[in-house]
Amino acid sequence: MQHHLHQHMIKRTFLFVFFIFFSCNISDEKILIHNVNVIDPLDGISKNTNVEISNNKISKVGKKTSIFYSKKIDGSGKYLIPGLWDSHVHLYFDQELAKDMPMLFLKFGITSIRDTGGDFNFLDSIKKLSEKYPKSYPRLKISGPLIDGKFNVYNGERLPNLSVKTENVKETESVVNKLIASGADFLKAYEMLSPEQFEIIMKIAKKKKINVTGHIPLSMDIETASNLGLNSLEHIKNLELWATKDKNELLKERRGMMKNTRDLSGLSLRGMIHSTQKNYAINNLDENETIKIYNALYKNSTWQIPTISIYKVPIYKIFKSEYWIENLKYLPKKTRETWKKRIDFSNDKIDPKQKDFSDWIQKTTGEMYDYGIKFMAGTDTPLGFLIPGFSLHTELELLVESGMSELDALKSATINPSRYFKMENDLGLIKEGYIADLILLNKNPLNNIKNTLDIYAVIKDGKVYKEPMRAD
Ligand SMILES: [Zn+2]
Repeated sequence: MQHHLHQHMIKRTFLFVFFIFFSCNISDEKILIHNVNVIDPLDGISKNTNVEISNNKISKVGKKTSIFYSKKIDGSGKYLIPGLWDSHVHLYFDQELAKDMPMLFLKFGITSIRDTGGDFNFLDSIKKLSEKYPKSYPRLKISGPLIDGKFNVYNGERLPNLSVKTENVKETESVVNKLIASGADFLKAYEMLSPEQFEIIMKIAKKKKINVTGHIPLSMDIETASNLGLNSLEHIKNLELWATKDKNELLKERRGMMKNTRDLSGLSLRGMIHSTQKNYAINNLDENETIKIYNALYKNSTWQIPTISIYKVPIYKIFKSEYWIENLKYLPKKTRETWKKRIDFSNDKIDPKQKDFSDWIQKTTGEMYDYGIKFMAGTDTPLGFLIPGFSLHTELELLVESGMSELDALKSATINPSRYFKMENDLGLIKEGYIADLILLNKNPLNNIKNTLDIYAVIKDGKVYKEPMRAD
């Protein structure tokens, strides 16, 4: 009896020590997602897999599992994908709504955002918050303001001042150097730049190894811009002006207009050029010119962010549909009421010229995809009544509608933007050592891309948020 008790005590002490040892180990939260279908953007689906998360990293992916974890999520019948990027966002466009946007993004599984234009200090302050509290904010990459020319488009007239006006090459150079020194993650070149101004941006960016995105400046041609090293093109903007047999006549006409003898504002001047040339161009396309452009974009790996949703949702008046109105409920009250009023006030006629353009964007997206050109999913939220977070899922749907496979649509919002920012070894895949930004879905998005909206839980930097949105 005595002996037995003694043995028992030793056993208990051993167990106790054993317990202390492991509880130290698991005191930093270890989460097991058990028996889940993992969808890795590169490897595709692997069924009934266990995924372990330690702190903010994926620590294990496989059939076997450790015995010790502090939390277990039953993944049976569910699908795990990496957290999504919205690669075209303007937080500064609505500074009031910007306070709620980070949480809205997380709610819809958007764990990283690429802000493509706005006041640098405003954006940098949100970026610093996201770095300080990575579990409660989406990751943020910022370009700062659109770098524009003498007649800058977003000059604060009617629309928020998203740009910086640069009168000449010297000014452009100094703005670029300042932005890079302040910590911009990439740069955005805009439409009213002169070819010389664009060239100086590319020259400095190359030296400083920073990406440049943008619209093709109206004064120069797309192949030159791509050859100069433009890393990405937003909205396929101004490609059509070069995909027509009349490209040189159009350039001549544009350069004339850009002298701006009527002294228009940048916004009106660009509006006039677009309305004179864009629909003409898509109605007079030339196959050889188009192929030449696709070739250059492919050869130079110029990423495409077609933002189909910023065309289709307003142009097809999708925002007036019951489906869209219903989803306005996610917006904060003040924004919801303002948007609702403006939506009610807007007419529901579809403009045939605009419709042609939206259709051309989708057709071009499909063609470029078939050509092997690379994509990132982005929206332009909160412009065009695009609901932050929610509308990225609309974009995925529209990419698939344009001909992209479901898996490639997922790539465009996960590993592709990671590659763009050289984070592909840390973020965007479901592999050991990757950051634990994940979405647990109730249904398979490879069967229907709409299933990315059927969210069971979002995991940001290892923290689990269960739907309806609360920290778990
Ligand atoms: Zn934009």
